[in-house]
Amino acid sequence: MVSNNLSGKVALVTGASRGIGRAIALRLAKDGAAVVVNYVGGAAQAEAVVADIQKGGGKALAVQADVSRVKDIERLFDTTIQHFGKLDILINNAGVILYKPLVDTTEEEFDLLMAINAKGTYFACQQAAKRMADGGRIVNFSSTLTTLMMPMFSAYVTSKGAIEQVTHVLAKELGAKKITVNCVSPGTTDTELLGRDRTAEQNQMYARMSALGRLGTPEDIADVVAMLVSDDGHWITGQNIRANGGII
Ligand code: NDP
Repeated sequence: MVSNNLSGKVALVTGASRGIGRAIALRLAKDGAAVVVNYVGGAAQAEAVVADIQKGGGKALAVQADVSRVKDIERLFDTTIQHFGKLDILINNAGVILYKPLVDTTEEEFDLLMAINAKGTYFACQQAAKRMADGGRIVNFSSTLTTLMMPMFSAYVTSKGAIEQVTHVLAKELGAKKITVNCVSPGTTDTELLGRDRTAEQNQMYARMSALGRLGTPEDIADVVAMLVSDDGHWITGQNIRANGGII
């Protein structure tokens, strides 16, 4: 069932083939937006998301692009605008994680995290700054881990900290065009990013970290994104929203 809230809007969601990005793509389509479903390797999963949206009466297109490559990002925006005519909403959701002590992290691992998480978000923001319609919405993705300072995540929080910083600066640069720029920082959310072989004990430990006593779901995070990109989100910009069920 499609509602009218985002009717006439065009949204691009990076990393929308699975996990949080998939839930965001489905939610924005349900709210009426035409959605570009970006992926890097998961073509079949991305096409399944598109099929789900179309089955519900919405418009969607899957576009392969590796966000760590600026040329791919440019092509992703070109295709979006050629196909749907404009861009109103950018969700920089694509991301990867590394669980390793700093002492063992290689240059290649560090560069990969920085390239996908920080550089990908930065240059997608640059394309949006050049090409997004006035009154648009940009939502970047950091993580609650940037405030928890847990061991083993040094490269990940280094890349995510950069995203928080660019969010604040870009909010000021795009304010004149009435484009809002915010960051969402999920807590532990039940996706493949946390690992496929999690034990029941690990899940209980994650659940106990939040005031609401459970792991987040991708839909919990999509609800927050839907609020930020709606008309009612017009006065929220330059913020980092910790969507984590109360991991304080
Ligand atoms: P998943 O691992 O479930 O999904 C990652 C998505 O990113 C996939 O769609 C994948 O595409 C895509 N992707 C990966 N690399 C690239 C790339 N180079 N170019 C384009 N797309 C790419 O992750 P989550 O859904 O859990 O995470 C989404 C965001 O939320 C990330 O930024 C993550 O850091 C953040 N986050 C997640 C938390 C969690 O607990 N899950 C907690 C805090 C933050 P493909 O299928 O094609 O590989």
